[in-house]
Amino acid sequence: MGVLDTSVQFIKGVGAERAKAYARLGVETLRDLVMDFPRTYEDRREVKSISELIFGDMCCVSATVAAPARLSRVRKGLDITKVAVVDAAGRMTVTFFNQPYVKNALIPGESYIFFGRVGGRIGAPEMTNPVFEKETNAPGVTRRIVPIYRLTSGLSQKTRQNAAREGLALCGDELPERLPLGIREKYKLAQTRFSYENVHFPRDIESLELARRRLIFEELFILSCTLSFMRTRQLEKSPYVIKNIDMGEFYRALPYELTGAQKRAVDDILADMAGESPMSRLVQGDVGSGKTAVAAAAAYAVIKAGFQAAFMAPTEILAEQHYKSLSELLTPLNIDVGLLTGGLGVKAKREAQEALRTGKTQLVIGTHALLSEKVEFDRLALIIADEQHRFGVQQRAALSDKGDTPHVLVMSATPIPRTLALIVYGDLDVSVMDELPPGRQVIDTFLVGEKMRERIYNFIRRLVGEGRQVFIVCPAVEESEETPDGLKSVKEYAKHLQERVFPDLRVALVHGKLKAKEKNEAMAAFAAGDVDILVATTVIEVGVDVPNAALMVVENADRFGLSQLHQLRGRVGRGTHKSYCVLFEGAGGETSMERLRAFCKTNDGFKIAEEDLRLRGPGDFFGSRQSGLPDMQIASFATDMDVLRSAQSAAKELLCVDPELRSPENACLRQSVELVMEKNRGTFN
Ligand code: ADP
Ligand code: MG
Repeated sequence: MGVLDTSVQFIKGVGAERAKAYARLGVETLRDLVMDFPRTYEDRREVKSISELIFGDMCCVSATVAAPARLSRVRKGLDITKVAVVDAAGRMTVTFFNQPYVKNALIPGESYIFFGRVGGRIGAPEMTNPVFEKETNAPGVTRRIVPIYRLTSGLSQKTRQNAAREGLALCGDELPERLPLGIREKYKLAQTRFSYENVHFPRDIESLELARRRLIFEELFILSCTLSFMRTRQLEKSPYVIKNIDMGEFYRALPYELTGAQKRAVDDILADMAGESPMSRLVQGDVGSGKTAVAAAAAYAVIKAGFQAAFMAPTEILAEQHYKSLSELLTPLNIDVGLLTGGLGVKAKREAQEALRTGKTQLVIGTHALLSEKVEFDRLALIIADEQHRFGVQQRAALSDKGDTPHVLVMSATPIPRTLALIVYGDLDVSVMDELPPGRQVIDTFLVGEKMRERIYNFIRRLVGEGRQVFIVCPAVEESEETPDGLKSVKEYAKHLQERVFPDLRVALVHGKLKAKEKNEAMAAFAAGDVDILVATTVIEVGVDVPNAALMVVENADRFGLSQLHQLRGRVGRGTHKSYCVLFEGAGGETSMERLRAFCKTNDGFKIAEEDLRLRGPGDFFGSRQSGLPDMQIASFATDMDVLRSAQSAAKELLCVDPELRSPENACLRQSVELVMEKNRGTFN
């Protein structure tokens, strides 16, 4: 054990009690302490003379205590200490609440630096509860850029700052050096000691930037190494090498020409499946980009080679829809396509299973029912999973176990910036389909306020009169929570719409609390055209196809992430009818209005995702923790994407030379990589 493993308890000024508080922040050792970087900084470098002070300034003042401080007890629990300070041309009153010790700490005739916010009035400036230190001391809490740390009860900024200072001193020459020298030089990264010192106690802004850049690079570099490391570990020999398939027949049978993006994705897939190890590929394409045809091409290749393929959808409705569209594409090519869902009758299910076991069914489309133990395949070589984010890693693994390490293809309609995809989908290769088939209609999108409500209701009525259907989506809220900002409880709202607004139309409701069966029934009724207006929480996000739906109305749109809104908008415009999306602006502030206005102007999911990432950080693509993104100490997935790219190429270069990180120089790096793997077990796919 090196000095870095010292328990924080033994760092000067910490002790057993504070060590418990640190433990709550996940800080247990000296290493943890020096690597728990400031959350932000306060620039306290500006020193003004009293005559220059302006009301509201946050600044330092250098002044001499003019007379002994006066301590008065106003009442029990409220002490006030007042002291007058002066400089060459001015006078200021400094007040402290409940800090009786300052009476003795401020000695008349001595000079101090005070840092705080300037109050009082013209000619009579004041400061309340400033921090201060002797002018003759080295700059500590004043006249410098001061780190601001995460806190928990029992810790203050001051104790944290002191501990960081002590910790750095204690580390001596043993600060963790996790970057190989070659990489540090090539990418012009600051030295270790310099970086740790300046990230905690920046000498100036430039030093802080240099320090941060190095530490962010380091963290992303280790993450990249970890991901590549995990991937190479998983490489096994593929039992299904699928080569030299003539796709001509398939392409000729398609009712359209593939887009460039579709072709590239198919080529990626064919190359993967012809390779030595099993494919693990994610095809990421915006709604409507034509992922089904890509899946069909993959299945076709595998089946032509004499194997079976399985396509797994998250819901029964989706499974049925895929069954329909894949049958249309593949049955004419003499491919036997089957459906297996929980909803099948006992006999039908048994027959479907039998056909899979014997190998008669060449492509099966199903739900989780495919995972049931009773399902056996003859020669399963390809698994396709639709809508990745609804599928657990374990479910994918369970299906994978049904074959002998088959190829895996995952389809996702959530556009995320490519750099992020590489992290979220850890071990998967990624094909991005950033192109829509020609002639696809643009969905006109409008942002409206409350005063437009009547007109929107009339618009709904008109569209329904023309035979169309309408979605109305509300943020998920329980009925008891009648929130002050007028957030709509879905149930109440649906009732209101049915009884008061559209008594003559058919209104139905789906929300997250319904049982899966009820949800499916409601969705199926809507898809069948038995419902005019479907009021819903975001449970409809997943790719249900209702070509007759021509309007998506979103209540309190400010409550949704842009990527989420984009998913919702993709639910309409799937048929030939001109389609619209209307966003009610809700109670969001100006920034959220700006976001929504930007959204109205583009239909490009990737642009929207980048904007969302920039504005709200990555959590919102997936909903908080299940995001699949690891926790980072200093790097941000929202703002450090450029650094990520160079860190990724650096990781690649290094792993080319030392794939197992066995060289002694990389020992510390290897240890960190293992730590990241350990910490993120279950986070990475
Ligand atoms: P998604 O990527 O959302 O799953 P789909 O695969 O459902 O998209 O395709 C959406 C629609 O576009 C379907 O009606 C499909 O037939 C059509 N389509 C797919 N590819 C093309 C293409 N290259 N040219 C024209 N239409 C296409
Ligand atoms: Mg789809």
